[in-house]
Amino acid sequence: MKNDVLVNETICPCGSKLLFVSCCYPFLNNEKWPSTPEALMRSRYCAFVFLQVDYLLETTHPKTKKFYSDAAIRNWAEQLKWVDLTIHEAKESTVKFNARYIDEKGILQEHKEFSTFEKANSKWYFLDGVDWD
Ligand SMILES: [Zn+2]
Repeated sequence: MKNDVLVNETICPCGSKLLFVSCCYPFLNNEKWPSTPEALMRSRYCAFVFLQVDYLLETTHPKTKKFYSDAAIRNWAEQLKWVDLTIHEAKESTVKFNARYIDEKGILQEHKEFSTFEKANSKWYFLDGVDWD
């Protein structure tokens, strides 16, 4: 976690309207593990916002982790400025959402993803995601 984030004063970027310290921060700070796919997805959005790439890899399923690299995630995420997250549907093991961001040219873009989650050792992990429209 970046040292300049005031966890007690910052509203959580995930859109919950809660303080970061009582929402996604404990997950990103490895104090607890999200108990639902939606909570995991929200915390992963925050990890993108704060460029906490190790958390993104940690919460990716062991089966699919090999498809993601620290450098690739970092390269992509570093060029963006995240605006907000909207959850459209959260089910037993899937979450449909869109995340808005400003791209490297200053243009507002939308990342629409239908993510699948799966448990390993009784913890939820991000498995993979596909675009939706
Ligand atoms: Zn949150």
